[in-house]
Amino acid sequence: MAAVRKIRNWSKCYKDMYDNILDQKIAHIIQCVDAPNNTLFEIIDKIRKEYPSIDPELVQIIIQGELDRHMSAPTCTCCGAKAHKKYSKKKECVTTIGTIVIQCPYYACPKCKNVHTPYEDALNLRDGKYQYDVQKIASLFGAKETFDEAAEMMNEIYRFGISADTVHKLTNQVADEISLEEITPTSQEIYKIIEDISEENYRRPVLVFSADGAMVPIRTEDKGQPHHWREAKGIRGYLLDKDKIVHLLSWHQISNVTEFRGFLAELRDKDIIPLDKIRLCFVGDGADWIWDCVKDYFPTCRQVLDYFHCSEHLHDFAKHQFVGSKKADEWIEQTKVRLFHNNASHSHARFEPVAFINLP
Ligand SMILES: [Zn+2]
Repeated sequence: MAAVRKIRNWSKCYKDMYDNILDQKIAHIIQCVDAPNNTLFEIIDKIRKEYPSIDPELVQIIIQGELDRHMSAPTCTCCGAKAHKKYSKKKECVTTIGTIVIQCPYYACPKCKNVHTPYEDALNLRDGKYQYDVQKIASLFGAKETFDEAAEMMNEIYRFGISADTVHKLTNQVADEISLEEITPTSQEIYKIIEDISEENYRRPVLVFSADGAMVPIRTEDKGQPHHWREAKGIRGYLLDKDKIVHLLSWHQISNVTEFRGFLAELRDKDIIPLDKIRLCFVGDGADWIWDCVKDYFPTCRQVLDYFHCSEHLHDFAKHQFVGSKKADEWIEQTKVRLFHNNASHSHARFEPVAFINLP
């Protein structure tokens, strides 16, 4: 009996100690949640920084309690009348700390009949069950791996049961919303990099742009429609610094020529490239559409045909120029070596553009 009593006492003692910690923890979580001032994305972000693992039910209780405590019937944003509560609905929110269910009230304006959803607005809930923090992770993984692999990793880490199709949709939504400012450094940051490289150098540094297009298979969103191919266009900008390259910006997007032009126009209009501080060159595969676009927005740019595409053209040229394949092969090999060592002037054919470089 004595032994049992002792265990009971210990157990009570541990419970008291834990209660104490829990009181402090709850007070701190209320601070982190700070509803209705924070969106759910902000709440989850703060909670995850403080508590790498936490019971989502505890967070759910606090969010619900804080919203109920602080929010009253809204006044209509259209006519200013006091809205009437109609009903409330459970909203299931899948987040990176687990699933949280919020009881959300719905109000209707008696005058103009507009429906108001104050809890969903305050928390900025995403339609559908997956919330914005999950979308962030989905697009991070989805941008690096295949959607199948991204879904597999997310399910392994978060136990969601998310499908590859949903990862694809979440990632695409982010891609549709993204703007140039979010993927490129600011002009001040670029100026600073250029300044660092220019130090002790007499000549302005070379800023290389390269662009290319590649056909990629596209899943069709509409049911019953066959999948198809579209061209993804990409651009990369980097500075040459002695024997290394310094990355500045890159951008890849499925787009048509008009959208590609829009990107170049934005680069120029936002003054991201300080044309008076660099020597601008553009490495391409010789496709007319790329060069025509670049010339329109950056007329002082020097066009450069890359070594590999140039080598391809040598074969076409040799076929017409030489009778007999032995002579042609010899000429191709010799010319490739000369070009590789940047000795274009000794090649017995004149190519436009006039400069060649080796791609890193
Ligand atoms: Zn109203």
